[in-house]
Amino acid sequence: MRSAPFRLFELALDELSVGDDGPVSNTSSGARPIEHRTPTEGTIKQLYGTAWRCGEPTCKKPLYRLNGDTGEYILNSRIAHIHARSKGGPRWDPNMSEAANRAASNLIPLCDTHAWEIDQTPEHFTADMLHTWKKEQLAEFQTLQRSWTLTDTEVADVIGASFTDQLKETILSGIYAAAESIRNEERRQRQRLLIADMVYAANSWVDALQIIAISSAGHRWKASDMIEWVNTDSGRAMAQNMEIIKKNARKIRFETRDVDLLAALDVAQTAVSNSAIFEPVWNGSARDAETRMVIYRHLNHVKRVFLDLEEIGIKVLADPPTNGAP
Ligand SMILES: [Zn+2]
Repeated sequence: MRSAPFRLFELALDELSVGDDGPVSNTSSGARPIEHRTPTEGTIKQLYGTAWRCGEPTCKKPLYRLNGDTGEYILNSRIAHIHARSKGGPRWDPNMSEAANRAASNLIPLCDTHAWEIDQTPEHFTADMLHTWKKEQLAEFQTLQRSWTLTDTEVADVIGASFTDQLKETILSGIYAAAESIRNEERRQRQRLLIADMVYAANSWVDALQIIAISSAGHRWKASDMIEWVNTDSGRAMAQNMEIIKKNARKIRFETRDVDLLAALDVAQTAVSNSAIFEPVWNGSARDAETRMVIYRHLNHVKRVFLDLEEIGIKVLADPPTNGAP
């Protein structure tokens, strides 16, 4: 166990430690840095000296590619951070020291596409995953013994390609993330409305059918009465409600991949299209009390499964809690 004063001394040393080059860190006294310095030239030479191709395990792109016409090697890669260099960047670790942030263990050479991808959709690329990539990349180097020996000019190229636009990219990715979150919010809002309209339509449809079942029994409707009824306002309203249910279900299916919501939608659509509900009404057999009971049970079931759909929709399409971003 180290004494508290010793720990403070260690922290102070950490804060004071300066690398061998690179721009001055914008660590202000006492505050956590918002952007660590770029890796040293030595670290970059080390990284390219221990890797041959992109660190994404299935990607075959070498870190430099050969120009078929000139025979020159062209930089085909960048250095990506496992934990971002700037506050709020992909996989940013607020507790990481600057020394650890710019060390080879936090950096991985990737082809341009993969370097871009892991930072654009960091939710799909966890730090653990990238550490595994890195381990595999190093293991492959040890087997192949192939890597790239960089001159100082080439190191400058790598720095230019990897870090010069980092701030711009951080800003852009922030804008991208904000736009994405607005799109998601709009999508959830749209789906909530589609479900609400659907539930309302289903309830109206059930109510109308219930009334028909009762009147057809009471007045001993014939087929010709039904044909006439279809052309009344309530007949048309019923057809429209069924249309809304079908149309909105189609739209929701197109927009969501949520398994629970899709399952609830299946149940609701199956219930509402069950011919056992309306056929007896149409063919006049709803006159006997037993058949009517079966119809009412079906109708109640329809109402219930649409309420379930609404409940699941509310749960699935709720706005996510705001991220505990620092
Ligand atoms: Zn790649």
